Amino acid sequence: MFPAMTDSPATGRCECGAVAGPLGVCVDYYYGILAEEQADPQMYRWHAPVVCAYLLQHPSRGHEKYLDVQFRWLQLYMDKGLDGLLRVQAHQVARNRHGARSGYDMAPFAAYAPLPPGKTPGPFRAAFSGLPFSDGSFVSDGHVAYGCRIEAIVEATVESWLSVQD
Ligand SMILES: [Zn+2]
Repeated sequence: MFPAMTDSPATGRCECGAVAGPLGVCVDYYYGILAEEQADPQMYRWHAPVVCAYLLQHPSRGHEKYLDVQFRWLQLYMDKGLDGLLRVQAHQVARNRHGARSGYDMAPFAAYAPLPPGKTPGPFRAAFSGLPFSDGSFVSDGHVAYGCRIEAIVEATVESWLSVQD
């Protein structure tokens, strides 16, 4: 019998293949970010890329029917930047508010690659458990630096998923 792979998350490896950091595995970092960004509107701007990248690095925690559009959100972010993503997000919210029948306008995502079926890639070049956390914060060195790190995770996620395309 093999011993349990991770007796303690702090010494183990995450399901995405990343080595755990001081806070634990990726989920510990993810919940830490979600908590901190609630109180920090500037940090919250990266909410959608954070959620989509986390779920695509840990697809067992997501819903299969949403992973494809989440993958496209990440590609849109890389293509149009954060402001472009926020514009599409505002458009989708306004559309729902006006009672559109189908919740989602897929037009902004049509140009992007669908999620490849089959094998889940990983480990990824950049992981949540590798994010620095100091002075009790993910943004202690500023929001720009934080945004660059989230962008690196997004790029790594898209790159790995595209690499299993065929
Ligand atoms: Zn992970």
